[in-house]
Amino acid sequence: MVQNSQKSGEKMERIVSLAKRRGFIYPGSDMYGGLSGTWDFGPLGVTLKRNIMQLWWKLFVEERDDMYGVDAAILMNQKVWQASGHVDTFTDPLVEDLETKQRFRADHLLKEAGLSPEGLSLEQMTQLIKDNDVKSPNGNALSEVRTFNMMFKTTVGPIDDDTSISYLRPETAQGMFTNYKNVLDSFYPDLPFGLAQQGKAFRNEISPRDFIFRSREFEQMEIEYFVDPAKWEEAFEHWRQQVWRWTQCLGLPDENVHELEVQEADRAHYSKRTIDFEFDFPIGKEELLGLAYRTDFDLRNIQNATAKNMEYLVKGTNTKFVPHVIEPSFGVERAVMAVLTAAFTEDEVNGETRTYLKLPEHLAPIKYAVSPLVRNKTELVAKARELYDGLKKKHGAVMWDENGNIGKRYRRQDEIGTPHCVVVDFQTLEDDTVTIRERDTTQQRRVPIEELVK
Ligand code: ATP
Repeated sequence: MVQNSQKSGEKMERIVSLAKRRGFIYPGSDMYGGLSGTWDFGPLGVTLKRNIMQLWWKLFVEERDDMYGVDAAILMNQKVWQASGHVDTFTDPLVEDLETKQRFRADHLLKEAGLSPEGLSLEQMTQLIKDNDVKSPNGNALSEVRTFNMMFKTTVGPIDDDTSISYLRPETAQGMFTNYKNVLDSFYPDLPFGLAQQGKAFRNEISPRDFIFRSREFEQMEIEYFVDPAKWEEAFEHWRQQVWRWTQCLGLPDENVHELEVQEADRAHYSKRTIDFEFDFPIGKEELLGLAYRTDFDLRNIQNATAKNMEYLVKGTNTKFVPHVIEPSFGVERAVMAVLTAAFTEDEVNGETRTYLKLPEHLAPIKYAVSPLVRNKTELVAKARELYDGLKKKHGAVMWDENGNIGKRYRRQDEIGTPHCVVVDFQTLEDDTVTIRERDTTQQRRVPIEELVK
């Protein structure tokens, strides 16, 4: 067990180090000593992230005829967050180290001490900490458990008073609920139909940690799927299957993805049923994404707060109701981290350990690397450039690589998950064929350029 967790810790460290070294993900504000819970995506990271987001959009918006994309403003009227319950209840339980004043998630410390915080009130958690003499990670005594609202507060406009308060959205969902009526008026779709949105969300996490897993600024991809209340179970099941399709498209092995039926006491205030999809990250089995049945909680809140009618009139009938909602909620950073975890592979090639990212080709930031065998032969370089330009025009995600010897280039491309390396050599000048070397098998074969470009 200890060995396993040591191994997982090492794997995590190696992924974090590769991600930084090879230009995937850097700590935020790195030059100034960082800013806890923020991360910057580098050139390869941003492409990987976009490939994931575009795949999601293609599967869940473009390929369907019941889905409507939106891109709502991050800053919203404060009434949105009052009506949604976030101002009062979007909180985490917090304890303070009495010596250092550092703050921690009480439920996380209890779990790490082998205790179960599930369903406990603040008082009960405080008692459990006392009874079991749970200390902070620094070994000091802890304060009572309090709640802490995770929304970042800000002010909109030049006057700083109660009316100008706004929040950086902690989820993208409300941007869809507030546009339900607009989309209804513009398109009047049949039920069930959904709104989909991708974008930044912000949570002032008490203790951000585990690389990009728990960040303060992150990206979500969410769907609010509006259904006839009598048919919510059918829709829930549909989205459960779609989530599995998604994890498969990400290249995550089924055996590393787990469904957790969340018990009532642990569900968000709006949810009547939630399944957390967990993944075997190197840090342990943790939530990758969530699927929730939000009932009519959000539309009803809007209706109550604004006195605007949120009912749906079924076409050709007099039947009216406020639709219920199934919400699959995907975190982009956790998807990136899961993809990197599943792809990170070490094997042995010619007696040496080789590290490579076995990324699915459709997600790999670079699909082809093109090299001249040597860089000081003008003819070879010109031929390779010509091929590079042709491939780039066609595929976009192509990299020019002429540094170091071929072996080193292959290692470098392996580490960033490039599936194919193409080498232009002296034979190319004679017969217009090139060597293609495959990442996963390290096998090489010769193919005519014409075939490759096609
Ligand atoms: P957790 O229990 O891990 O804090 P949550 O249940 O609060 O997560 P949701 O509110 O269901 O998360 O958010 C939906 C998704 O958004 C999560 O499944 C996750 O992928 C992502 N997410 C939530 N919080 C964070 C965060 N701090 N950093 C990165 N991704 C996050």
